Amino acid sequence: MAKKTSRKPAKKSARKTVAKPLAKSRKGKAAAVKGPAQRVKADTKAAAGAIPRWTPVEVEEAFRRFQAAEPEPKTELHYVNPFTLLVAVVLSAQATDAGVNKATPALFAAADTPEKMAALGEDTVRDLIKTIGLFRTKAKNVVALSQILVAEHGGAVPRSREALEALPGVGRKTANVVLNSAFGEHTIAVDTHIFRVGNRTGLAPGKTPLEVEEQLEKAIPAHYKRHAHHWLILHGRYTCIARKPLCEKCVIADLCKWPGKTTV
Ligand code: SF4
Repeated sequence: MAKKTSRKPAKKSARKTVAKPLAKSRKGKAAAVKGPAQRVKADTKAAAGAIPRWTPVEVEEAFRRFQAAEPEPKTELHYVNPFTLLVAVVLSAQATDAGVNKATPALFAAADTPEKMAALGEDTVRDLIKTIGLFRTKAKNVVALSQILVAEHGGAVPRSREALEALPGVGRKTANVVLNSAFGEHTIAVDTHIFRVGNRTGLAPGKTPLEVEEQLEKAIPAHYKRHAHHWLILHGRYTCIARKPLCEKCVIADLCKWPGKTTV
């Protein structure tokens, strides 16, 4: 089966998906622009079952190394309590943590509880977060969710996925981050980095973030689940980056199943 795909389609595919982006990056911008899209195709091969799966021993070893490198990983978003964490995560949608961290000190100085945020009002919140993308919608959501927390949860952030996902601007990923970072639950929030790492490495192939989350839930041993989310985000953000992964400095390079990796 492997030969079939490697004779014609897979060879073409390999050239398109793996060799080209790395080799052609010298040839100019056109190749560089095409690279990531092609690499996504290579990554999705894992979802289609083309990349070998990890054994439990390999998964254990990968997370042992992540833990050795960073025993207590934490979110890079700045926050002072569960409410400000929730707000910071809502603000981070389609924005960088660094960008959110620039705006939140002034916002949280003015309002670090749902009561204060609701009292601050949408216009002021909008003004305080105007450096963040989609700030109009986000300001509306932050004030609305604050009002709901006050009206329905006694001003506290609920420790319940359903209640969190019922808040404006809060989806499964945000709920998972809050449950994990604020309450210590073993949830895995699949963002763009984890989605890429899961598929590219073959650790957790899936066509949707939920599929990747479910695969990670199955694959990762319980004793690593508390921090798995942060280890994978950090790995995707700083090492297994989208355009040109830094395989030379990767601590799981020998375990990774991606055919395009630049080390063995
Ligand atoms: S070897 Fe390369 S592709 Fe594989 S996980 Fe490490 S950085 Fe990512």
